[in-house]
Amino acid sequence: MVNNVSYKYISMPIYKLLQEFKTDPMKVFDYLEHVYRVIESVETKIKAFITLMPQDAVFRRVETLIKESKGKIDSMKLFGIPIAVKDVISTKGIRTTCASRMLENYIPPYNATVIERLINEGSIIIGKTNMDEFAMGSTTETSAFYPTRNPWDLSRVPGGSSGGSAAAVSSGEAPIALGSDTGGSIRNPAAFCGIYGLKPTYGLVSRYGLIAYASSMDQIGPMARNTIDLAILLSIIAGHDPKDSTSLPIGSKNYVALVKELVYKEPKLRIGIIKELFENSDENVKVKAYKVVDKLCTYHECLTVSLPYGKQIVAAYYIIAMAEASSNLARFDGVRYGLKVPFENKSWEEVYLEVRTKGFGYEVKKRVALGAYILSVGYRDMYYIRALKFRRILKETFDKIFRSVDVVVSPTMPILPPKLGEFFEDPIKIYLADINTVIANLIGIPAISIPVDFYNGLPIAIQIMSKQLTEEILLYLSMQLEEKTGFRNIIAEVH
Ligand code: GLN
Repeated sequence: MVNNVSYKYISMPIYKLLQEFKTDPMKVFDYLEHVYRVIESVETKIKAFITLMPQDAVFRRVETLIKESKGKIDSMKLFGIPIAVKDVISTKGIRTTCASRMLENYIPPYNATVIERLINEGSIIIGKTNMDEFAMGSTTETSAFYPTRNPWDLSRVPGGSSGGSAAAVSSGEAPIALGSDTGGSIRNPAAFCGIYGLKPTYGLVSRYGLIAYASSMDQIGPMARNTIDLAILLSIIAGHDPKDSTSLPIGSKNYVALVKELVYKEPKLRIGIIKELFENSDENVKVKAYKVVDKLCTYHECLTVSLPYGKQIVAAYYIIAMAEASSNLARFDGVRYGLKVPFENKSWEEVYLEVRTKGFGYEVKKRVALGAYILSVGYRDMYYIRALKFRRILKETFDKIFRSVDVVVSPTMPILPPKLGEFFEDPIKIYLADINTVIANLIGIPAISIPVDFYNGLPIAIQIMSKQLTEEILLYLSMQLEEKTGFRNIIAEVH
């Protein structure tokens, strides 16, 4: 008990909470009371949220929910479960800023499809979480408002760009969260904060209402403190949405049932260990990650696979991401979207200039400018087209790898969570740390980050990737590791 908070209650998985809430809906209030006590005691240090819903508003919402769901509660998959949502996902009537001055006062008139689905299942949004501005970054330091801190060590970053979501879940401020992942933004902060995070196959989860960064790679995904909770959340948000033209024409699966079945049948898989991604990691990460892979290899068949590309992977990712970002962010012109400035006696160029100068932070400006340059006449072939060709080669390489193995494994991040400000002088270094995660986005496959160990009190995680639409296999291996490592429902003690 710290500050009258029962951490045993707070760390309860949502599948257990659900049972309690369904037998006695009044328990939702009790649990939320605890959640808000945790928030009160840690939020000033962590700063996971940009917008936190006031407790009384949330309580009123629960009252309405209980009244409206009479007779339906049993079939609701998230009845009374609070969730933290990354501030890049549109929430009707709740400010959605993308951690940018540009959208500081933007209140969406509609919900993202994922939000509609959560609400229909009885989930309660408790706040919108901090992130890198427009999801551009790996540390949550490019937020226009303030950085978020890593609950395991407040002098370090929580990762990014979904750093607020990861920090909220790992510190007990929320049992589950939504993040978005364009090049690792779910898996990186999940790894740095010691929680589970999954980037789904491109097209499995609707992007409708997700404010776009790089549309050919963006995906929304679940973050949680154990595998089953991750599977519950994925089952709800996955599945076709006619409002997103890139959404795959398939229904959702019951990932919980699928995982349980796989855990029961225990199929033996072929696991490919991507040598280069281990060897290029920091020594401490490498040693711990190899140790946990050994555990998997006692049961499954492991073989080494080789990925003969290094920095090209990161270069291709950033070229494509910046090119798409420069096009996506063009809509923030102060006329239809974005900051409003007085425009009397000014030319349109002057208005645009003022809006973008004031509205965008340094990292976003840099990427929009580089993206426009990459796409300009004379340079397009040299950068953008070459990056697209490399993207195809990478896809073919993995198609080949997946003919001999079912999944591939690597550390999620090649480094431990850095100190705040550590990479300000050398941003290329932090770009390069994305090498393991951007692969899945470039080729559209699913990837999971599984917390497995600690080094000096800092979490270490491994990443597993598999073929398109085989999320249940990732969840199966995650569940197996969870059993082996005991790494589940762990909450950071915030000092
Ligand atoms: N760090 C990567 C970037 O800055 C990934 C960000 C993300 O996935 N949104 O682009």
